[in-house]
Amino acid sequence: MPSTTDDVVATLAEHAAALDETHAATDRRDRFALPDGVVYLDGNSLGALQRHVPAVVADVIRRQWGADLITSWNLHGWWDAPTRVGDRIGRLVGAAPGQVVVGDSTTVALYQSLGAALRMRAGRAVVVTDPASFPTDLYVVAGLAAEHGLEVLTAAPTEVPTVLAGRGDDVAAVVLSHADFRTGELWDLPGITRAAHATGALALWDLSHTAGAVPVDLDEHDVDLAVGCGYKYLCGGPGAPAFTYVAHRHQSAFRPPVQGWNGHAEPFAMGAEHRFADGVARARIGTPPMLSLLALEAALDLFDDLSVEAVRARSLSLTGFLVEALAAVVPEVTVVTPRDAGRRGSHVTVAHPDAYGVVQALIARGVVGDYREPGLVRLGVAAPYLTHAQLLRAVLELRAVLDRGEHRAHRERRTVT
Ligand SMILES: *Cc1c(COP(=O)(O)O)cnc(C)c1O
Repeated sequence: MPSTTDDVVATLAEHAAALDETHAATDRRDRFALPDGVVYLDGNSLGALQRHVPAVVADVIRRQWGADLITSWNLHGWWDAPTRVGDRIGRLVGAAPGQVVVGDSTTVALYQSLGAALRMRAGRAVVVTDPASFPTDLYVVAGLAAEHGLEVLTAAPTEVPTVLAGRGDDVAAVVLSHADFRTGELWDLPGITRAAHATGALALWDLSHTAGAVPVDLDEHDVDLAVGCGYKYLCGGPGAPAFTYVAHRHQSAFRPPVQGWNGHAEPFAMGAEHRFADGVARARIGTPPMLSLLALEAALDLFDDLSVEAVRARSLSLTGFLVEALAAVVPEVTVVTPRDAGRRGSHVTVAHPDAYGVVQALIARGVVGDYREPGLVRLGVAAPYLTHAQLLRAVLELRAVLDRGEHRAHRERRTVT
């Protein structure tokens, strides 16, 4: 493979500089504590740390936990944090206040929401999902379907409306991700939600790869239920709790399978029988991981003066430029992410026969992406802390890795890829 000509690189560099200038108002790199020289392309897996967060967490630990002790549950608003932080996330996903709660993992949130959905559609025998979903979503669907004696029908999201029309009122729920975790393809949330409703099924969306990166407009599109991750584009930190959205109209019927004391109407009455709280608070379970929850709350300050629409505009420019630079500089690799901006989430994925080696060689050069089966190099574009110039550097490092065969070096595969 011939090396890229200097001309091509110079033109791309000029283009990157011009685009960075155009998008200067949404550059938030100063807020983040990223190491010098690193191009971080894994914010879709673990969002980066903001500079102000450690001090907030230290205060929670030293002053609130250390000095104010148990009074902090009232004094520092710990008890109400799941719904308070939920409302802040609600603003980012188009949910009016009172419909989002934070706590537990995405896996647990999905189990609770689908379990409640199946109770709300008792008598229907089918759950529809995408076979290419993130595995934990498939596992939860399979587990609940087995428990309820239901059939799991799999179809690519583009085929789901047809499948729904064919199965009529047999379908209890459609469980899909808003964006494909491998390819970054964005699915038609409004259209699929409408198709679900046309057959009386509930639409449950996993927003893990779009919350904080792509406008979702849950209320506007009449979504029934949604869950999403706190540690990806929301930057909440490793293991940050997930969120659950329950549309107002479904809240009185929402009865998740794990009924815990935090979701009780009167938790401190300490009654022997469970009675669901009014509103979305019934989606709470047990005591949330407070340090992580408050770190997530601090991280959401990022969006105080940065709308998700602005993040999206920046992200589309960045991912569009990345796709263009890949095509110009490394034409031999296949970009599996749609070129059409409207069908693209916020990461770009490249197929390569030695993708794991490519990812490791890039990391050695300071370009941090991740590897996903089968044979995919995933380049996450968390727009607030990336520039077009950095993406060009990433592409040039990829060129160098392939030219020098660095991806072929034998490497033992680590647990986390
Ligand atoms: C990241 C992600 C998860 C993560 O689930 P955890 O329970 O937080 O580990 C779940 N679903 C999707 C679609 C994801 O992208």
